[in-house]
Amino acid sequence: MKVANLHAINDLRYEEIDTPTCSEDEVLVEVKSCGICGSDIPRVFTKGTYHFPTVIGHEFSGIVVEDRLGEFTGKRVAVFPLLPCFECDSCKNENYAACVNYDYYGSRRDGGMSEYIAVKRWNLVLLPDNISYDEGAMCEPISVGRHAVKKLEIQKGNNVLISGAGPIGIIAGQWARCEGAADVYYFDIDKRKIQFAIKLGFKEYKENVRIDCVLEGTGHSDAIKKCLNAVKPFGKVVLMGNPAGDVLFAQNTYWYILRKELTVLGTWNSSYAEKNNDWKASLKAISEGMLDVKPLITHRYPLSKCNEAFNMMKEHKEFYNKVMLTMNRDK
Ligand SMILES: [Zn+2]
Ligand SMILES: [Zn+2]
Repeated sequence: MKVANLHAINDLRYEEIDTPTCSEDEVLVEVKSCGICGSDIPRVFTKGTYHFPTVIGHEFSGIVVEDRLGEFTGKRVAVFPLLPCFECDSCKNENYAACVNYDYYGSRRDGGMSEYIAVKRWNLVLLPDNISYDEGAMCEPISVGRHAVKKLEIQKGNNVLISGAGPIGIIAGQWARCEGAADVYYFDIDKRKIQFAIKLGFKEYKENVRIDCVLEGTGHSDAIKKCLNAVKPFGKVVLMGNPAGDVLFAQNTYWYILRKELTVLGTWNSSYAEKNNDWKASLKAISEGMLDVKPLITHRYPLSKCNEAFNMMKEHKEFYNKVMLTMNRDK
């Protein structure tokens, strides 16, 4: 089968490897779509994976083509990419994202930029009939966005500010609307991203707009400062952006938290617990038309052109939001 295999930093190869065989608790998924996550860019070009080679990709969907129990054969699925240990305290509380000893499709073990992948049954999420494979592959960022927005506890009529208008930022804006937000404002250093957000009906943030709650999605010190400044007294700030380095607060910035008595919360990944499962809620929301993520897909490349896709993103050759790799589409 063909895969996008990371052999070293800056050495992603489209190549042939053996199709995996399934263990008892796994099924074979024929992958149809795999999104390129923002985190895949440093993974390929600067940080690497935990070992080499690793087939990357953790945002994928496909169809089950082999299941020795027959339970899932022919079913269309998305895949929760985290494999918890099921033994630590977090796992016992179904808080799998905080597992201390987890595995992960696409970073710690082979992932979805592949024609086939053996996936644990526990990680399969069934796609409703009216959801496309591309939408299914976006279930991960949609779930991450939902998890974050729930923490904002938006009241009807609240103004929401989102820092960062990439895929998760835009998805979070859609969730914020579902939760009753009046207006959703954005700021981003890339003006093209703001134009894109405006096209989808959102607003560009201007000073002196009353902001009830903020979602910070970049992890940059300057952006966090702007968020803490923008929010009203007793407002709420949820930190989601994964910082690339140290985050520094000037004294004045820190004072915003104290003097305005802000509530500052963190969010991480998504919930895959039995109850209030972000993944199931996300699929339901797309299926019922509450969210529309299709306009976010600005680019599609066949898996064979994975390097072209990654280079376009790294060098920002074109404006993009969600970039999708597709495979097995003629079957
Ligand atoms: Zn991702
Ligand atoms: Zn665990």
